[in-house]
Amino acid sequence: MTADELMSIMDNPNLISGIYNYCDRWCERCTKTDRCSVFLTTPKMDPENFPDEESYFDAVFQSLHDSFLISMELLQRSATEKGIDLDDISTNPDLAQIELNRIEVRKSPISNLANDYVVIGHEWFNTCADSLKALEKSLQQADQMNLPNRNPKKEAADLRNALEVISHYNRQIYVKLIRAQSSRLEDVTTFEKDEFPKDSDGSAKVALIGIDHSIKAWEVLWHHLPEQEDTILPILSLLDSLRNQTEALFPEARDFKRPGFDE
Ligand code: SF4
Repeated sequence: MTADELMSIMDNPNLISGIYNYCDRWCERCTKTDRCSVFLTTPKMDPENFPDEESYFDAVFQSLHDSFLISMELLQRSATEKGIDLDDISTNPDLAQIELNRIEVRKSPISNLANDYVVIGHEWFNTCADSLKALEKSLQQADQMNLPNRNPKKEAADLRNALEVISHYNRQIYVKLIRAQSSRLEDVTTFEKDEFPKDSDGSAKVALIGIDHSIKAWEVLWHHLPEQEDTILPILSLLDSLRNQTEALFPEARDFKRPGFDE
């Protein structure tokens, strides 16, 4: 894609500004792809269309490189239009403060809890194969027996959906909570008055949505795998605690209006 092609996509009045900032990045399930500039300008690369992993990653890095060049070209064009000499701009970020903020955010109780959930989630997926195989077999048998009051195909679909939901949000919750807390530290100086919606609240809301969906998904697993109660109940308890702590730390987050989704 060239810079001009990118600009013609960006000129589409149907696009929703900033919709991609507070979505859950689950583009395959998103109902707003035709209104999202990130989706429309991101090359679609399916690993299955490449002969091997190496050629897939080569293509991904080439795409990133091309995007960077286009961004630089557009930045240069905009600077020229506004009479700005990019070489004259001096930046002086307070790197020491940024590092201190990063450390503070990563060691906070809420970050630790979210990270615990990432680890526990991974562990569960690494050890669930036998249980899921047994469950699959029992659903197939139920399907063949045509039992009354059972719908094994729907049960299998619900189960698959629950696994996909847990997998999709497992790490995203942590990432969004890190961003929410980092933004909170910046909000203190940027938004001294409560006039603007805060990025910290928007990010916390996306984390909360991920937690809500994940809790429902684990409940589906618990229903299908009652023998795993001792494993799944502590996970549900952790997520419930994470939800409560997030709501306490970001009391305005649930009211944040995400462009394109809540308006
Ligand atoms: S708004 Fe939808 S299409 Fe755009 S990045 Fe988010 S999930 Fe993907």
